[in-house]
Amino acid sequence: MINMQGVRKTYQNGIQALNNMNIHIGKEEFVYVVGPSGAGKSTFIKLIIRELKPTEGTIYVNETNLGELRKKQIPYLRRKIGVVFQDFKLFPNMSVFENIAFALEVIGEPGNRIKPRVMEVLELVQLKDKARYKPRELSGGEQQRVAIGRAMVNKPAILIADEPTGNLDPETAWSIMGTLEDINHRGTTVVMATHNSHIVNKLKKRVIAIDSGNIVRDEMRGAYSYEA
Ligand code: ADP
Ligand code: ADP
Repeated sequence: MINMQGVRKTYQNGIQALNNMNIHIGKEEFVYVVGPSGAGKSTFIKLIIRELKPTEGTIYVNETNLGELRKKQIPYLRRKIGVVFQDFKLFPNMSVFENIAFALEVIGEPGNRIKPRVMEVLELVQLKDKARYKPRELSGGEQQRVAIGRAMVNKPAILIADEPTGNLDPETAWSIMGTLEDINHRGTTVVMATHNSHIVNKLKKRVIAIDSGNIVRDEMRGAYSYEA
């Protein structure tokens, strides 16, 4: 599903953010990406969604070689990858329904298909009764569910979650994890960058630890850190 070979990323200022990354993430996987601030986690994610190009190396996402992807094709790649962030990034003036429907409207989905699909997604993220609400009328956890709904509405092969529980209290964080696991069990690959050691150590998954641009650990059912 995601394959990186010899990937290196050096920014314009000379900072080498990733050194020789070699990684394979399969279709059914749920992967935590951990590491200290500045380790290279965001760079790793930006390479997968083709927000950045590697300085060297090859990246395959969902059988597409990103190096051969033309600019015009990038939106098609993005449709295969849903992304959620720590700060939700919802449109404040749109309702829950509209926030999710928007992701279908921009790709030109026929109007009659939008409502049934949004309703399906609202069911998945358990927000059917909040369709008319605006983001500010929702709790943090509900806002993250809307963001997850928006990310999933195009039925992506991969869901990338960048610190999705960062702004949530522990109980809400756990309920978001339940939603992400559900999505994974339904066949979407989940890649989650996180600093939440409690979750990583309790809800065991593959852990890819990055430090100073290198993969320093890659373990099935791993822990947040050696000391943990
Ligand atoms: P993390 O997400 O793990 O905190 P990043 O991938 O954001 O790490 O950063 C890795 C390294 O690359 C850091 O040294 C950071 O300062 C640097 N970096 C990140 N983005 C840029 C950029 N746009 N230009 C220059 N350096 C950057
Ligand atoms: P139901 O009757 O199945 O509960 P509604 O028709 O009341 O569903 O719609 C649920 C929510 O979705 C409402 O807030 C409604 O305003 C909103 N909604 C329905 N269709 C659209 C649309 N095309 N664009 C934006 N919001 C919509």
